[in-house]
Amino acid sequence: METVSSLLDEEWYNRYKNISSLNIRSSIYDVTNQCNLRCKGCFFFSSDEHKAADEEKDIKKWEDFIDKEKERGVNLAILIGGEPTLHLDRVEAFYKRLPTYCATNGLIKVPRDRFPDMMVGISLWGDEEDEKLLRGKDAFAVSSKHYEGDDYTYYLYTLTPNQIGKTERIIKKIQNAGLKVHLQLLSNDEGVDGFSWTEQQLNDIRSEMDSLLDSYPDTVISSKYYHEIITTGKMLGRTFGWQECPSVTEPLDTRNPRPKRLIRFIRWASDLKTMHRCCTSATRDCSTCKDGAAHMSWVMVNKRSHIKTTKDLQNWIEVYEMFAKLYKFIPW
Ligand code: SF4
Ligand code: SF4
Repeated sequence: METVSSLLDEEWYNRYKNISSLNIRSSIYDVTNQCNLRCKGCFFFSSDEHKAADEEKDIKKWEDFIDKEKERGVNLAILIGGEPTLHLDRVEAFYKRLPTYCATNGLIKVPRDRFPDMMVGISLWGDEEDEKLLRGKDAFAVSSKHYEGDDYTYYLYTLTPNQIGKTERIIKKIQNAGLKVHLQLLSNDEGVDGFSWTEQQLNDIRSEMDSLLDSYPDTVISSKYYHEIITTGKMLGRTFGWQECPSVTEPLDTRNPRPKRLIRFIRWASDLKTMHRCCTSATRDCSTCKDGAAHMSWVMVNKRSHIKTTKDLQNWIEVYEMFAKLYKFIPW
């Protein structure tokens, strides 16, 4: 039987050791039901998750809740919404207690004197034209000024079929702003015309993602195996979907047999009581889901299946390293 040490040389083994002890236990929190944008294809609003629960407004209740989450074993709080920066007191309640990542559209700047090393992920939906079409605004123009040169910030660039052949210019803009970028694919939850993927487009964007990583290794935080998984929906001959998804809220997970999954993962609504089905839209058809974090986690929780060949295990290590960099568990 193959083992980790039999498959890796010293350099790769050291990389493996560096991440294998991290033991990341994340959960996701809707900080608010409000947003200062309304993007077409936003999973939160398109699946009415903003109506799932009334927002808790008492900051003391947030603080007590986060203390309990910590006791539950959570060591990474992923804040989403709505737009978390509309309620910085709630963001601060997390930040003071747990390693915290804040997803934002970047229109409101996270003040660095109050949150010096909080990881910030700014959503980006394409070039100026796409952002205007899908989000009603060129959000990058604002966010890139707010966060220029910030060491704890990266762009989460959602690629759409419209972006094929146009991504390099955006990556250069991000590089020029002194920031990093991670790539994911639009799931087109609201069926905007021309924004659903065809097989050919998925092949094309995969090659483009690979060549971006080759050309901008210091700016693009990614891995080719991640590109393969996210564009094909296949891993080691298995197909991504409901039966395989690792990012289902644990107390709501009635699947039998239960697949490998994120331990103790919950996605909480902003009333701090209601749980959503998974890390993304509760109404999304899992067979069309392109969620980047869910695909990444799918690889990460299936380590054993990758202890087969040197290449498989190296692929697994690269995806894990990518995740660890995105949440600053290891340096860029
Ligand atoms: S900025 Fe984010 S939360 Fe707000 S509408 Fe757009 S995708 Fe949704
Ligand atoms: S929509 Fe995506 S993340 Fe949610 S359960 Fe389905 S496959 Fe998983």
